[in-house]
Amino acid sequence: AQLDTLDIIVLIVLLVATVAYLTKGTYWAVTRDPYGDSLAQANGVKSGKSRNIIEKMEETGKNCVVFYGSQTGTAEDYASRLAKEGAARFGLKTMVADLEDYDFDNLDTFPADKVAFFILATYGEGEPTDNAVDFYEFIHNDDVTFASGSSAEDQALANLKYVTFGLGNNTYEHYNSMVRHVDKSLRHLGATRIGEAGEGDDGAGTMEEDYLAWKEPMWAALAEAMGLEEREAVYEPVFDITEREDLEADSDEVYLGEPNANHLQGASKGPYSQNNPYIAPIAESKELFTTPDRNCLHMEIDIAGSNLHYSTGDHIAIWPTNAGKETDRFLRVAGLLDKRHTVISVKGRDPTAKVPFPSPTTYDAVARYHMEICAPVSRQFVSQLAPFAPTDEIKAEMTKLGSDKDYFHQIVTDRFLNIAQLLEIQSKGQPWSKIPFSLFIEGLHKIQPRYYSISSSSLVQEHKIAITAVVESIHKPNAPHILKGVTTNYLLALKQKQHGDPNPDPHGLNYAITGPRNKYDGIHVPVHVRHSNFKLPSDPTKPIILVGPGTGVAPFRAFVQERAALARQGQKVGKTVLFFGCRRRDEDFLYKDEWEQYKKDLGDNFEIHTAFSREGPKKVYVQHMMRANAAEINRLLEQRAYFYVCGDAANMAREVNTILGQIIAEQRGVPESKGEEVVKAMRASNQYQEDVW
Ligand code: FAD
Repeated sequence: AQLDTLDIIVLIVLLVATVAYLTKGTYWAVTRDPYGDSLAQANGVKSGKSRNIIEKMEETGKNCVVFYGSQTGTAEDYASRLAKEGAARFGLKTMVADLEDYDFDNLDTFPADKVAFFILATYGEGEPTDNAVDFYEFIHNDDVTFASGSSAEDQALANLKYVTFGLGNNTYEHYNSMVRHVDKSLRHLGATRIGEAGEGDDGAGTMEEDYLAWKEPMWAALAEAMGLEEREAVYEPVFDITEREDLEADSDEVYLGEPNANHLQGASKGPYSQNNPYIAPIAESKELFTTPDRNCLHMEIDIAGSNLHYSTGDHIAIWPTNAGKETDRFLRVAGLLDKRHTVISVKGRDPTAKVPFPSPTTYDAVARYHMEICAPVSRQFVSQLAPFAPTDEIKAEMTKLGSDKDYFHQIVTDRFLNIAQLLEIQSKGQPWSKIPFSLFIEGLHKIQPRYYSISSSSLVQEHKIAITAVVESIHKPNAPHILKGVTTNYLLALKQKQHGDPNPDPHGLNYAITGPRNKYDGIHVPVHVRHSNFKLPSDPTKPIILVGPGTGVAPFRAFVQERAALARQGQKVGKTVLFFGCRRRDEDFLYKDEWEQYKKDLGDNFEIHTAFSREGPKKVYVQHMMRANAAEINRLLEQRAYFYVCGDAANMAREVNTILGQIIAEQRGVPESKGEEVVKAMRASNQYQEDVW
């Protein structure tokens, strides 16, 4: 029979579809724009990439995979550093892998001549990071069974050699629990750990030093286990940077700070997520107090029409822009000031290397929007930069800084220098033109959104999210620069602009306030919402106790606002007791007038206990006010009150936990250990909740 035109068209379409299906993962995985791709994933579209790590390693000739479970980017950064160091010093064929991108049911076939690293951050109350949840649930399951049918009984992972390092914070109860559990599970399944299971402590501020101290003996153990020979490390760039003469900065395809293809191509589209921010209008902004050295912002961010939703107790993430002053300093010291608007393409030399921002772009956009150029400097990075110093003398000084921990602390960490400030001081302003730009991309973190506890109730204002943020500004006595927090000073500039200042310039920081291609003009800020478990009891008649000094009061403003609204609607609301602390009632008492209104709405059901640390001869903190109200706290707990703490994790939250145990013990006439147990049980049943940072 003869084919008509329609049949031919159908056949061609089928043929193309079949070829595309059969070659998926082979061709198009590497050529696709990763920023379009991550967007597709955010939008729930499955990518065509292979999820088989063993196949991937075979295809790309790797013998070492460094997996990371990362929330804020630090674990990812350590993973990249380990992969680079393994390649440079031991000739390992390394790749870095996001745990989320692979399946683990074939880990029992992981070849014995390869090694897997697991660099795992612990998040919140001992939880895995978002990208590690599936891996964790699979491996930490007592009945884990691999695709082949093997299990713990067969020592399924007998061939697997692995290395682990955990990133945790000792101010949390479940310190480094992620890495501890995974390590235990892997051993239970018969895998062999090489070196110690390292643990870094962010709470003690020793993360970097813990990491540096752990990695040397680990490398020695790995070299022995795999028969590796150490060689003179030679720097090899991870990325190829091509300056594009064929493109102008204003060409349509050039990213000037847009986070992904969607934003570049016009108005951004939802769904909005951690890969795809919503450019939100700031509806209102004001300062809650201003003293000569401190500012505190209240902002209302409009999410109407974005399809973003929040519920009381959630967090909003703000995507910052680096200050112009620091962007200029960075470009100047890197010798790139004159070519800041030159268009560059950035490509991983290895197919497994991930470029942390979309390209083609410009040096200016990378420094301003994508790299954490103001962050604390890593000692290892200083060592890596030393060979590229402009003179031998500077090189010697950089080498000394890189190898002498105490000296480094004295000169760099304790003076809060960022990388450009350090390099500028070391070279007395001479540019460091020999540093390959790839090394900056490798050594500096990708800029991270900062989280804020939402200070409005979704019941009261469904489409407007309030934040309460103190502007970070720290002047260390011996430091040559004042440390200016990246995000909060950017927000301060936005507030100034909204209030009529055409060139907002807090402290000379000078922001590109209208964003890439003026897309943030009219006072917009890129955001996304993160849902949290920090929630009011579903029954509004339950009593609640809230401890939130300083900006820790943010979510409690939302809680009280919500209960006041319910009361106004005639609903029965339980006792609501807030402990708030600040310096002085006339200086930094946040939402002072609002509490008066809530008192009117809630009557005797709302109590606020205040602690002013700088008013009297003795410092008074919320902890003292808790002691002074011990009987009431205990009485409410006996009525199954929910207890909430928000704010400073390092000291306050810990002390509040201890004091609550003591109060329970004293009031109930039981030993202190019993009081501690009660608090533990409250935590386990969500009756004690923390939102701390
Ligand atoms: P950054 O630039 O990130 O600096 C922060 C700190 O890092 C500095 O104070 C300093 O200690 C250190 N640092 C930075 N650079 C250097 C350097 N070069 N050398 C040495 N040290 C350095 N904050 C609020 O005000 N209100 C909230 O409601 C709130 N809620 C939060 C909720 C959660 C879940 C989390 C995780 C955090 C929350 N925060 C909140 C904190 C907030 O996310 C930011 O960390 C804070 O606003 C500072 O951000 P920044 O970008 O201005 O400062």
